[in-house]
Amino acid sequence: MPNEHNDYVRDLVFALKKLPGIGERTARRLAFHILSQNDAAAFGLANSIINAKKHVNLCKICFNLSSEEELCPICSDGSRNSKMLCIVENPEIIYVFEKSGNYNGYYHVLHGLINPLEGIGPDDIKIEELVNRVANGGFEEIVIALNPNSNGEATSFYIQKLLAPYNVNITALARGIPVGSDLEYVDKNTLAEAISGRKKF
Ligand SMILES: [Zn+2]
Repeated sequence: MPNEHNDYVRDLVFALKKLPGIGERTARRLAFHILSQNDAAAFGLANSIINAKKHVNLCKICFNLSSEEELCPICSDGSRNSKMLCIVENPEIIYVFEKSGNYNGYYHVLHGLINPLEGIGPDDIKIEELVNRVANGGFEEIVIALNPNSNGEATSFYIQKLLAPYNVNITALARGIPVGSDLEYVDKNTLAEAISGRKKF
């Protein structure tokens, strides 16, 4: 019988370990923390995951997080600049861009970066969907706004090559964002400057 308890703990640690940035030790710490909480707190966490997963979808166009509607609030907003498309790694970056107040076009969320070490290739992220959007026409400028690290750079080059045959200007955020930093944590003024100073890729 004692093994049965161990199995439950092991499953929980295993599930937590699949989250980005969580290694074995952190997974164990989180699991023990969750298990030491009272029922209300632990079940509350589980329920908030269930509810968010049930009620939050990915936008059919840009893959931003969306409510039960098919399109996210940005894609439903016809007053934005329909000639500009900004490519970002994850929906959190959209939030940072919107806060910077210096971008008024639309977005495309890749949901990851090409990462050969972890076996993540172009087919594992929303690149084909991106090319289809661009191929459908209408965009004049594509801003590649990926993190300045090796995976971000590899993904940017790959996308730039794929989009080269289309009649669009491809730009990248201006330098000034420190190499290796995470766009998610860049302050809004730095990001606003990087957007307005963007350069041809
Ligand atoms: Zn959208």
